[in-house]
Amino acid sequence: MSRTDPESRAVGALIRWYGREGHDLPWRRTRDRWAVLVSEVMLQSTQVSRVVPYYEAWMSRWPTAADLAAAPLGDVLAQWQGLGYPRRARNLHAAAAVIARDGWPPTDRLTDLPGVGAYTAAAVRCFADGEAVLPEDVNVRRVIARRFPGGWPGTPRGRGWDVGQALMDLGREVCSARAPRCDDGCPLRKGCPAADAGVVHEVTPRARRQGRYEGSLRQRRGTLLRALAEQGRAPVSADPEAAESLVDDGLAERRGRSLVPVASAAR
Ligand code: SF4
Repeated sequence: MSRTDPESRAVGALIRWYGREGHDLPWRRTRDRWAVLVSEVMLQSTQVSRVVPYYEAWMSRWPTAADLAAAPLGDVLAQWQGLGYPRRARNLHAAAAVIARDGWPPTDRLTDLPGVGAYTAAAVRCFADGEAVLPEDVNVRRVIARRFPGGWPGTPRGRGWDVGQALMDLGREVCSARAPRCDDGCPLRKGCPAADAGVVHEVTPRARRQGRYEGSLRQRRGTLLRALAEQGRAPVSADPEAAESLVDDGLAERRGRSLVPVASAAR
């Protein structure tokens, strides 16, 4: 890729746009792997604005993997309360134990850590290590599909972090699925094939469909976990299926006919 070809110029425009418009988020002020991993796990399925206070409280309580590994799982789950998908907290706790005991796995085996899939591994490599690896969430995939249908043209040396963050922000705020702002400040408008052809909405990779939340097992599990946090126990008979699912996932314990939180330092 030559620095003067149109695709390279587009990547340069994207980086400059991020320099002007990029958001200052707490996990963007660090290159610490643990902090990046915590933020990425929290950001899975949860909006940025909701994650910020949880992330800050979490990192001030458990600033390192060793700190989290030493904490009782009950405390970890209680701190997670309200973020949703508590299995993520359990996996983070398990990953912390591995890191505290064995250190980080080799870069190409980050997915060996509990709860770390290909996307999260790429995010750690990009946002902590600064590698030119693109973590491709649905926002990033949408920008690439629309603007670079032949594939990502390449990241300039040393700019992996900026490019990854820029694509995230652009996909979320400018090249969105429903209301793309092609002619309202998009730095990639010049030469954008989807916009030029007037087919932007048609070029929209599908997000993973979530089933209905109302009445779902996920909602009932959340209700039961909230009851446990507030009252300390709940009858299994209140929702046997949700209770069994929480016990199977190690997110609660059965005591006789009651469900109780997993052991916490507070008890
Ligand atoms: S011009 Fe439109 S479709 Fe192309 S990258 Fe920008 S917002 Fe997305």
